[in-house]
Amino acid sequence: GVALVWLRDDLRLDDHPALRAALDRGLRPLPVYIHAPEEEGDWAPGAASRAWRRRALAALAEALQRRGSRLLLARGPTLATLQALAARTGAEAVLWTRRYEPAVEQRDAHIKRSLRQAGLHAESFNGALLFEPWELATRQGDPYRVFTPFWKSARAHWRTLSTWDAPARLPALDALDLPAGERLDDLLPAPSPAWDGGFWPHFTPGEDGARAAMQAFLDGAVHGYAQGRDFAAEAGTSRLSPHLHHGELSVRRVAAAVLAAGDAIAEPDRDRFLAELGWREFAHHVLHHYPRVPDHNLDPRFDDFPWAAADEPRLEAWRRGRTGVPIVDAGMRELWLTGWMHNRVRMVVASWLTKHLRQHWLHGARWFWDTLLDANLANNTQGWQWTAGTGADAAPYFRVFNPVSQARRFDPEGAYIARWVPELARLPLPARFAPWEHPELARRVAPGYPARPQVDLAAGRAAALAAFAALRGGR
Ligand code: FAD
Repeated sequence: GVALVWLRDDLRLDDHPALRAALDRGLRPLPVYIHAPEEEGDWAPGAASRAWRRRALAALAEALQRRGSRLLLARGPTLATLQALAARTGAEAVLWTRRYEPAVEQRDAHIKRSLRQAGLHAESFNGALLFEPWELATRQGDPYRVFTPFWKSARAHWRTLSTWDAPARLPALDALDLPAGERLDDLLPAPSPAWDGGFWPHFTPGEDGARAAMQAFLDGAVHGYAQGRDFAAEAGTSRLSPHLHHGELSVRRVAAAVLAAGDAIAEPDRDRFLAELGWREFAHHVLHHYPRVPDHNLDPRFDDFPWAAADEPRLEAWRRGRTGVPIVDAGMRELWLTGWMHNRVRMVVASWLTKHLRQHWLHGARWFWDTLLDANLANNTQGWQWTAGTGADAAPYFRVFNPVSQARRFDPEGAYIARWVPELARLPLPARFAPWEHPELARRVAPGYPARPQVDLAAGRAAALAAFAALRGGR
């Protein structure tokens, strides 16, 4: 018999529960990827994600071929495509890894019902998380909205992490009457012009690239991670986020590797890294239980918040890294050029947008969605709502990051700023952190850089706090 293994954000063979289930049942897995962005509601993959996916699918197709199998590419609508393919190949089962985006959860539930009604065995698996969102609940039986107790309870439920190695050979599919399938170039054309050229010196999409990145992290940055993760200029984090988002690496595999290292990884570094994986778990828990969060404040008090009207020139300066605040501009340019941004700097640019500029967090979430290689609805929503103060266990709104002191602390040599804002590279410290405080020098050495920030730091902060006070006063 045949099982369709319907691939989505799980573009790997290693530790793949649906693939494993097919083999365990003695079925020949037929891996199929269906391109159907119109089924993902308002949050279909953005441009950077699509550029990544194109490469990840090419890598997966190659990996399958090496094992004697193949990847079938198809176009939506998904349900009709799965049904037609099952009919044509005589498949008896359709197996897949669960996703948690609200529009996708609804679609998948409908697909599962319909396939079962048609007499097929339809089953989904957890291949993306350490814990399913419904496995953990407060003592009252409610979803968690605070990270620390969530993670404490997760760690208490922690079982042995079992992982599964894909076999070296997969059953051949030659005997099947398969449709020709779509061409990758038609489904996900190469970016033209090639605006993604700056991404690939930093990242290699696909399972092999993911494994190599994990190994590099285990051999390097994990040692000292607890501190090093905050320093913007250093490669102090794993940079696994795009691989985890596209499912090229199972989170169980990563966690198991970290735990297997035992004492070779100091406890604070290990626990800190696992806790970051925990924030990813928490984000998916919240997204599943509060499916409105991608577009609505989790904290309803903020529904009355006096955001400033959308200010397109200011937003555009923020997107392009022309705000006049060096650490903000460095982050936004790192994002534009490489498809990734350091976590500390993500918080700083998000705070600048939502506090100093008082622009609604959705403006920022949308830009990140289109430009991040790791754009992930759970994590991105959480990151924005956390920074804006509107989310679960969020930083309070009155905590306004000062971008100059953040830069001094987390980019003490100004190396991160110099790397991404080259016109400031010759400006010495401390002027590089705040060029407007040294106008003569800045005019001479960095004439192309904005003379002052798009809003005055103190005035922007005061206006943000006043808006917040008005909100509370009004209730
Ligand atoms: P590491 O420090 O090596 O962490 C390991 C893994 O843990 C990451 O790959 C990621 O999967 C997870 N992780 C780490 N930090 C967080 C976090 N704060 N929240 C959730 N998961 C985390 N992360 C995304 O994956 N996709 C997004 O779209 C995204 N948008 C964000 C938007 C904002 C405004 C902010 C403040 C954060 C956002 N993050 C997002 C979280 C975080 O910045 C990235 O996960 C992290 O920078 C990825 O780098 P890394 O893989 O080197 O992380």
